[in-house]
Amino acid sequence: MNLAIVCGGVGGARFVRGVVDVVDPRGVTVVGNVGDDLEVLGMHVSPDLDSVLYALAGLSDEQRGWGRADESWAALGTIAALGGETWFLLGDRDLGLHLVRTQALRDGESLSSVTRRVARQLGVEATLIPATDDRLRTFVATPAGELSFQEWFVARAHRDEVDGVRFEGADAARPAPGVLESLARADLILLAPSNPYVSLGPILAVPEIRAALERRRVPAVAVSPLIGGRAVKGPADRMLMRLAGGTSPRQVAHCYKGLIDALVIDESDAQDVDGLGDVRPVVARTLMRDADARRRLAEAALGAVHA
Ligand code: GDP
Ligand code: CA
Repeated sequence: MNLAIVCGGVGGARFVRGVVDVVDPRGVTVVGNVGDDLEVLGMHVSPDLDSVLYALAGLSDEQRGWGRADESWAALGTIAALGGETWFLLGDRDLGLHLVRTQALRDGESLSSVTRRVARQLGVEATLIPATDDRLRTFVATPAGELSFQEWFVARAHRDEVDGVRFEGADAARPAPGVLESLARADLILLAPSNPYVSLGPILAVPEIRAALERRRVPAVAVSPLIGGRAVKGPADRMLMRLAGGTSPRQVAHCYKGLIDALVIDESDAQDVDGLGDVRPVVARTLMRDADARRRLAEAALGAVHA
């Protein structure tokens, strides 16, 4: 079976990990978000791609919830001692990847190419492709003015309310090589339980990707990132409340209007499925607390259109 998964960072990565545990990973293509990418200390960092990479390679820190397991922070200590930038936390093991990626990009290699190469080196069997090799950056409008994604999310701990999102470069961005092919070849398209606005939004803002989803000939299934109307982590619930007027399944589905056929929602949201239109609700336990729960959620998503 061929699957294409549209995916953000940590929430998406957990889900993808469950998916490759229940299907042959060689048929799985993950289309990843680059709207969060940033330059820090002269390096190109792709936080969402790396969350997926580390999850698929079995290198993630499951306790902390982001970054690599068994991480150390010696370089950051030196950077702090020297008065360098420390607002964006970079561990020593993580730094190695950023250095290799940055050099490759400076030498003219594309982001998709270096991502493929690194994934292979780490033993990842699934395919991970950034949505685009072109520059695409997320900005959020807040009462304090427009902020770049990482300034809002990390430096200001996403405390500012969001009045709108803007994806700089999206209109002109072309899908990276392999993205449209993976969508065309897929037997099923999945939208991971990621933040609809700032994790999947940038991917869906690439015109040819959105058009491919709109024209799909196979079912597309999204998994809600909310449980009981609340985000498991992060600002998705506050954003939905302010930008869509609520945190029910219909507001999540509305973010993917015309792009999905089913929405997997948590048991705790099952009583509130009005207004979904032709999107079929599929009820499951969606908290991915461990490997077993991740696998069960993956199976629910895979089964959503046959049930
Ligand atoms: P980020 O880019 O690292 O912020 O990650 P994502 O956007 O991919 O994931 C963040 C979203 O994942 C949040 O909205 C969470 O509510 C959601 N999430 C995290 N863990 C779980 C889980 O176990 N179940 C579900 N349904 N959603 C989750
Ligand atoms: Ca992210």
